[in-house]
Amino acid sequence: MEPLNFINGQWQKGHSGQSFDTLNPANESIIASIVAADVTDVEAAVQAAKDAFNPWRLTPAPLRGELLFRVAEILRERKEELAQLLTKDMGKVIAEARGDVQEAIDMAYFMGGEGRRLLGYTAPVEMHNKFGMAVRDPSGVVGIITPWNFPIAVPSWKIFPALVAGNTLVWKPSPETPAISAAFVKVFEDAGIPKGVFNLILAPGADVGRALVSHPDVRVISFTGSTATGRAIAQDAARLNKKVSLEMGGKNAIIVMEDANLELVSDATLWSAFGTSGQRCTAASRLIVQKGVAGKLKESLLARTKQLKLGDGLNAKTDVGPVINKVAQERIHGFVQAGKKEGARALVGAEMTAVDGKGFFYEPTLFDGVLPGSMLERDEIFGPVLSIIEFNTLEEAIEINNHSQYGLSTSIFTQDVNRAFTAMRDIASGLVYINHGTTGAEIQFPFGGVRGTGNGHREAGQAALEVFTEWKSIYVDYSGKLQRAQIDNREE
Ligand code: NAD
Repeated sequence: MEPLNFINGQWQKGHSGQSFDTLNPANESIIASIVAADVTDVEAAVQAAKDAFNPWRLTPAPLRGELLFRVAEILRERKEELAQLLTKDMGKVIAEARGDVQEAIDMAYFMGGEGRRLLGYTAPVEMHNKFGMAVRDPSGVVGIITPWNFPIAVPSWKIFPALVAGNTLVWKPSPETPAISAAFVKVFEDAGIPKGVFNLILAPGADVGRALVSHPDVRVISFTGSTATGRAIAQDAARLNKKVSLEMGGKNAIIVMEDANLELVSDATLWSAFGTSGQRCTAASRLIVQKGVAGKLKESLLARTKQLKLGDGLNAKTDVGPVINKVAQERIHGFVQAGKKEGARALVGAEMTAVDGKGFFYEPTLFDGVLPGSMLERDEIFGPVLSIIEFNTLEEAIEINNHSQYGLSTSIFTQDVNRAFTAMRDIASGLVYINHGTTGAEIQFPFGGVRGTGNGHREAGQAALEVFTEWKSIYVDYSGKLQRAQIDNREE
């Protein structure tokens, strides 16, 4: 299927007249050529979403939920087909691509169930013959802007709660993944989504995203991507008093105590650091190891990292796929070169490479001797690069974790319950794992980070509904007379 924009229920080419190509990063073949949308298309999409809002808002929430269940069923039927397309579009290995689709299935069922919940509350009121309740209203037209690294899972964290709550939306996915994005929207079309409720805009560059953020009829922006883009979006949106939910960069850490099960640490570290070629927002890029076990752990990691097989993600034997594109490959290499210059030692990897002469690959890299506060310890690299930092005490390890400008995911390996509970209390991150790597969030819990990673909102779980609903407090006075709160019924 040629990826097209989906506006008011119609698949259509963009008005820019200009095409952009997307490449399979494993072999550089062209996946799709897309005629890009421009601001005219944004205008049409927002207008369609605006027109569709009232009927969708007034559709009973349980019926909106049922549509999500139909989406879930179709996703299940197409899981393999979608996973293969996803791997071609952005490179992650097929097992992870299946997981990406599964996350959307899980979220569809979870949020479909919200159609019969969307809980508000009642509370006692201070007057006689008066009733009070708080209910959730949809916000209106929502703008959704997403990255390429979880092209189905991340959008699903936003799209399902937005829809079940009664909003209509315009989605601008990353220009790196238009094919899988259009295939995802097709599922909603086939499930019977009314026209205008869900609109898709495909375009490269920042202009179309900015037009969506700056459109006065878009009331909420839900964004996942880099911290720099998120900040720019927040500034644009602030001019129009919009609600903005930002999920941004990470510099996640695994803390290893001397009493840890090192074999488990080694399994979890390889998965967290090099899965999705290190391009997860929750990827572990710092391994903070207590000095007594650092030597042994490095030895095991080094041996196992050398054995990782790079290749096309569609090949079941591949451990690590490509990175997203040439620019990313060169950017990662720039970080690695700078890391060497600041005195860290690359134990393995540290090279751009190709497989069968093609593709944008980066060798899984381990850096030793990384110091707290150095560039390697501080900056998000978003590639398969793991920096090893040594420490003496648990307090020191937590301090190294918490001083990061980011605060998404931290894990700690220890068999000591006192240390585990101290870490649970003192680690300042949105996600904390005990004896598990930094990735593996489940959709029923809030997802998001602190400091430079987020702006106080959470995705997934019921927390996601806070982003896409407005609280409305309703008072019903059945006394038949004027009753003044805080004044009547009070003794002076
Ligand atoms: P990016 O910031 O370059 O792009 C994200 C999206 O924003 C894309 O759709 C892009 O076209 C759009 N965009 C770019 N400039 C814009 C502007 N000025 N106005 C509006 N839209 C604009 O990010 P990316 O390279 O696609 O993704 C990688 C980043 O995403 C990493 O930093 C990663 O940590 C982060 N990420 C975070 C989470 C999380 O939940 N915290 C999850 C996944 C990825």
